[in-house]
Amino acid sequence: MLETIDSKTVQQPHNHKGCMQHALQAAEQICTKKGVRLTAIRKRILELICTSHKAIGAYELLDLFKLEDPKAKPVTIYRALDFLMEAGLVHKIESLNAFIGCLQAEKQHKSVILICDNCKNAYEMDATAVYESLFALSESMQFKPQCLTLELHGLCASCS
Ligand SMILES: [Zn+2]
Ligand SMILES: [Zn+2]
Ligand SMILES: [Zn+2]
Repeated sequence: MLETIDSKTVQQPHNHKGCMQHALQAAEQICTKKGVRLTAIRKRILELICTSHKAIGAYELLDLFKLEDPKAKPVTIYRALDFLMEAGLVHKIESLNAFIGCLQAEKQHKSVILICDNCKNAYEMDATAVYESLFALSESMQFKPQCLTLELHGLCASCS
């Protein structure tokens, strides 16, 4: 069993090795369960994304990945990102067009992403109740909701 990482603790100085380890262990477990392969490339991209809590863009990832594999192409990165997002291991931050690793991929969750505009770290916060109430509201307007992206910009605990 993986221990969930508290989104409050990751906003403070903390042992980030634990976050990395958690993300990689969850990745192994989820891929085994789904019967899909966490290839070396997919794993490495996940590691690069989880190096910090900062959101990272696809081209930034490509630059880092190219240090190890100079022949890598954007499509290499995009394919790996698609796989990781599909598996719930990575989330896209639409407002930044960038990606973060998920620290609770092993459990169902609907979160709002808290983005610090100073240090650019991004954290997930569970917001299931908010999703439910917005969906219920939209349904009361005879609107059929399908997807909702919640991103909140501001300052994290360390920066404020
Ligand atoms: Zn961390
Ligand atoms: Zn998540
Ligand atoms: Zn910050």
